[in-house]
Amino acid sequence: MRIRKIPLRKCVACQEMMPKKELIRVVKTPLDEIFIDLTGKKPGRGAYLCGKANCFRIARKMRSLDKALKHSIHVDIYNQLEQEFLRVEGEFLAGKDAMSDEE
Ligand SMILES: [Zn+2]
Repeated sequence: MRIRKIPLRKCVACQEMMPKKELIRVVKTPLDEIFIDLTGKKPGRGAYLCGKANCFRIARKMRSLDKALKHSIHVDIYNQLEQEFLRVEGEFLAGKDAMSDEE
């Protein structure tokens, strides 16, 4: 069995360090588009949140995503992200155990 180093990232809301694949990545593309990146591979600056709606709410309230992405995020974008976040939350939690370890 190979020992692999698990890449850790910090949730921008609760500041907890977690394995990368347990977190939801929000990306800001070079074109300043902001969206949730479930693949974790989109180019751009990323911020991570644990897959909890509560952390999204904290991030929104504290404007943690703005800070992490160095971009002032419009309230419409936050609304859109929240919708998306709630939609993927269930999917994300369900898929977590099934996710393969190929990386
Ligand atoms: Zn969190």
